[in-house]
Amino acid sequence: MSDSILESPFIRDKVQKLPYSFVKERGILALEESEENVLVALADPLQLDALEEARTLLGKPLREQLVSHTLLEEAIELCYHQKESATSDLLATLQKDTKQENQESEGAEYDLLEDRSTSPVIRLLNSLLSEAIVQGASDIHFEPVEKGISVRYRIDGILQMRHAPPKEFQAPLLTRIKVIAKLDIAEQRLPQDGRIKLKMGGREIDFRVSTIPVVHGERIVLRILDKTNVLLGMHKLGMRQKILESFKHLLHLSEGIILVTGPTGSGKTTTLYSALSEINSSETNIMTIEDPVEYKLHGMAQMGVNPKIHLHFATGLRHILRQDPDVIMIGEVRDKETAEIAIQASLTGHLVLTTLHTNDAPSALTRLVEMGIEPYLLSSSVVGVLAQRLVRTICKECIESYEPTDIELKELGIAIKTPFFRGRGCANCYDSGYKGRHGIYELMLVDSSIKRQLLNSADALALKTCAQNGGMMSLRHEGGFLVIQGITTSAEVLRVSRSAEEV
Ligand SMILES: [Zn+2]
Repeated sequence: MSDSILESPFIRDKVQKLPYSFVKERGILALEESEENVLVALADPLQLDALEEARTLLGKPLREQLVSHTLLEEAIELCYHQKESATSDLLATLQKDTKQENQESEGAEYDLLEDRSTSPVIRLLNSLLSEAIVQGASDIHFEPVEKGISVRYRIDGILQMRHAPPKEFQAPLLTRIKVIAKLDIAEQRLPQDGRIKLKMGGREIDFRVSTIPVVHGERIVLRILDKTNVLLGMHKLGMRQKILESFKHLLHLSEGIILVTGPTGSGKTTTLYSALSEINSSETNIMTIEDPVEYKLHGMAQMGVNPKIHLHFATGLRHILRQDPDVIMIGEVRDKETAEIAIQASLTGHLVLTTLHTNDAPSALTRLVEMGIEPYLLSSSVVGVLAQRLVRTICKECIESYEPTDIELKELGIAIKTPFFRGRGCANCYDSGYKGRHGIYELMLVDSSIKRQLLNSADALALKTCAQNGGMMSLRHEGGFLVIQGITTSAEVLRVSRSAEEV
């Protein structure tokens, strides 16, 4: 029976349904395709990852047939024998088709799930994009390496290796991305930026595209801007009830500056957008200046900075102030000039929301003083500072409890013996033990004692002690709450809060 695989349609016609390097490395060969599924041959039935990848590449459920190693090798040889000529045919066709595809994708709104393309490269790219979206990736990295191209997804903040298409896919794949991102295909020596607009199952998804030249070709990163993931609303940010209430109170003040701090990728933008949606109404004029505008929000005037025409945060902000705003969101305070205009705006009766790159809430004030802002101006304008991090949440399918060591308990400031949790790793979480993310928030309200401390000295440690005496919980302690509830692991909390504890 198993000898018959050498007679299967794909092998007889030398049809390649999977890239050679994948087949060779993973030992899975496609044999036959029906309406519902694809028949594959394999010698090792325990390769769940490889099966999952094959399923994704083929775009259909699999039917598996177990064969001997020798037979599999033989079948692979037969099937891929004429590989080289077939590949150059494919490349030739692709080069001819490039112009036509370019026109096809003008206006560029096609649905990934309604893909009827016959080009293997287009199908490969579409399946990579939809897979990344389904798995909840935030970025897709295409990196040329010696033997081909490595495709990694950033999921829940961590890069994960996914596919390794062979070298012959490199040029057509990267060209295809550049075509739909409306980049210059001929230019391979200079970095380029672009955008792709696609639909998947009717839902609009934008990709921000960045290319840079590296040793083995061009490295391309796609940032997935999934509009359905924004507009979360304040209640979905995962703030502890007490912090949520205090933060909402700040948002409904008519004037003052609210700072959101944290490293890149800590979810600051999502928090700001959710905050703006919370206060958005037809009676409020909300205006933003961002670098760049990542998501267009309904009912708000959003402006992107543009250094090419000298539209910086500071200049844009001056113009916004002449547009009679109530609430202003500034993407980031990077210099003294922007900080000064923000303070001026706050003192003249506007609510200003902005971000800073600092490790914890108290050091945001220290940073602004270091920029050259007078402490008395800060004490009369800043109303609160929210520091935040994102931790990965434990996979619900493989969660287990364990008894933490005394050191683990102590590090999170937990005084009682209580179980901790972790993920064993399973197919649901691609063996990482984690699925999804959750925010940790540290909110410092600028009350009278913080104001006094600020006027006395803007030392970060002194401000922190003062805030903690007033009831502020540090990021690490806030993380401890999530650990005992089984939402995340102590390792995650320690990983994201390390920098904050070093202040
Ligand atoms: Zn799991």
